[in-house]
Amino acid sequence: MRPCPGCRAEHHKDASGRCARCGGAWLPGLADGPLRRLVGKGPLTSLNCPDCGGALKSLDVPGPVYEGDLFWGLETARPAGTCVAEGCPRCGGVWADAENLQRAGALPAFLASLERVRRGAS
Ligand SMILES: [Zn+2]
Ligand SMILES: [Zn+2]
Repeated sequence: MRPCPGCRAEHHKDASGRCARCGGAWLPGLADGPLRRLVGKGPLTSLNCPDCGGALKSLDVPGPVYEGDLFWGLETARPAGTCVAEGCPRCGGVWADAENLQRAGALPAFLASLERVRRGAS
């Protein structure tokens, strides 16, 4: 089993895909089609994919209050509710650490925001 991208512990996931140790969520294959292309355009991170070992790229995921174009701006310029996820352009896995999940308003809200990004990108 490959290590968790967040805490590098052996990845023990609960039913929702969250790491039991650091609380981040690894969601395999979540980024497909247009969403994966969008992930591929993001800046490279220092994290590696726990599934295929590829380098993860970061992706801004705006919260529900934000209607508009995606951007990769300064932390301070991000609209409220925006969190930063990391995605694997090779296999489409998506990682969100505990802090960013909290920023998004928990996992279901994060998934809803990501779905909006997917629709906007297609
Ligand atoms: Zn972890
Ligand atoms: Zn991967």
